Amino acid sequence: MDKIYKALAEIVGEEFVSNRKEELYIYSRDSGLSEPRFPDYVVMPRTVEEVQKIIQLANKEKIHVVPAGASLSLSGLTIPQKGGIVIDMRRMDRILELNRKGRYVVLEAGVTQGKLQAFLEENAPDLCHSLPEAPPSATVVGNLVIHGQGNLTQAYGFNSSMISGLEVVLPNGEICRIGSCSLSPYWFSIEPLPYLAGLFLGWFGTTGVITKVGLRLYPKKKLRDVELFVLEDPKLVSEVIYRVTHTEMAEDITTVAQPYPLMFQGTIMIGIYLTGDTEEELEFKRRLIWSSLSELIKAKEGGFMALTPDMKVGFLEKPMSSLTRSADILKGGGFVYCGAIIPIEKFPEALKKLFEIAERNGVTFAHTGRVIGRGHCMMFAFAYPFNRADLERMEKAKRALFDSYVATLEIGGVPWKPGAEEQKLILERMDKNSVELIKRIRELLDPNKIMNPGNWEVEL
Ligand SMILES: Cc1cc2nc3c(=O)[nH]c(=O)nc-3n(C[C@H](O)[C@H](O)[C@H](O)COP(=O)(O)OP(=O)(O)OC[C@H]3O[C@@H](n4cnc5c(N)ncnc54)[C@H](O)[C@@H]3O)c2cc1C
Repeated sequence: MDKIYKALAEIVGEEFVSNRKEELYIYSRDSGLSEPRFPDYVVMPRTVEEVQKIIQLANKEKIHVVPAGASLSLSGLTIPQKGGIVIDMRRMDRILELNRKGRYVVLEAGVTQGKLQAFLEENAPDLCHSLPEAPPSATVVGNLVIHGQGNLTQAYGFNSSMISGLEVVLPNGEICRIGSCSLSPYWFSIEPLPYLAGLFLGWFGTTGVITKVGLRLYPKKKLRDVELFVLEDPKLVSEVIYRVTHTEMAEDITTVAQPYPLMFQGTIMIGIYLTGDTEEELEFKRRLIWSSLSELIKAKEGGFMALTPDMKVGFLEKPMSSLTRSADILKGGGFVYCGAIIPIEKFPEALKKLFEIAERNGVTFAHTGRVIGRGHCMMFAFAYPFNRADLERMEKAKRALFDSYVATLEIGGVPWKPGAEEQKLILERMDKNSVELIKRIRELLDPNKIMNPGNWEVEL
């Protein structure tokens, strides 16, 4: 037994550490198209003290550390670029507190979306959190770290802005609390203290390991419905979203454009989700939304598509598993996407780029998008399915993906959850003083450079 393996086994118990090739294999890749790279060890801690000891050991031995949730971000963010220890957080899966009146929960970092969703359905059916379309095994914290989006993002912004407290093990092994929980037993708010949470969100595990999170919950209405507005002119998408968000009646607004099935070709579908405690409330909201778009309907610019109850089931499922299924058009495959955070007015340009990129690289595509805030911006996904048995198609999808990151930057957008290569594209274009600030923060927090190297790495 080598000495690091032995030390890790002393911290977490031998059952929860491995350096066996077949187990490391799982952590060497994700379901996207990033180059696999093997870690040297994988470890599954159960407590914050165990995480602390692992970080202390990593500092002493100068070995790299990569925190991982379910590794479902698809852009290689948990693939250890330079080897080291993957800390799989999924044994830390306790829901520690539910504060119903204050509408928040306190979770350990390994709690999955599915576990929290089921817990709330059972213990607080009138409350919900902002649920992404990711598989239920994705962790809540992994989603917050990458500034994820869910069904409440249209109303309240990125999921990461719904955090009400954090506990973090810093790269030097100190445990730090952020927000009201740093001076009170309550985890109700990050504000009005200095906004230290920003040191850990969007950093992809390069500035510390989050061990607990306080997460805001929101009213969950008893009924949910969807209306599908279909139009052909991409230039009108921002107008539709502006009008609908003005009503403040929608829970979620999504966009879809894809060449298959053929009846969808040339159209853009805007999914408008409504919730209400009664049929009357739903009907009231529906009327306001319809009337906000009546001029466009009269001008024959677009219209609502009649959905049968059967069709609605798929649209209303949370998370929407049909998204994954429709991405598997090529069978036996997977899909990758570049999530571009763009101003909504850039939708037509982004769509044009998507068509061009797909044609140039000889791949098929699907676009889905989600409005963020009351139309403040949107996530525009350039998505490409592939078949793992077809190496040529995988190469093509990879090239199309890279082109999509470049296109995002060209139209003035910001790539969401970029992989290590795409982070370089961003840093090259970023204001030099901002890049210098990133470098200084990393050096200050992580002088031994142990945390997830290869990510947000500034070579200056
Ligand atoms: C079909 C499908 C649909 C999806 N739909 C959505 C969607 O609607 N909205 C959305 O936002 N995402 C979506 N995703 C992307 C992704 O799956 C989710 O965002 C997911 O929640 C990420 O969680 P994870 O546990 O897989 O994170 P991981 O991939 O494991 O981790 C993400 C990042 O966080 C870091 N990290 C993880 N845990 C910690 C920790 N405790 N401390 C510090 N750093 C940590 C990792 O190092 C990594 O950099 C989708 C993915 C798929 C496959």
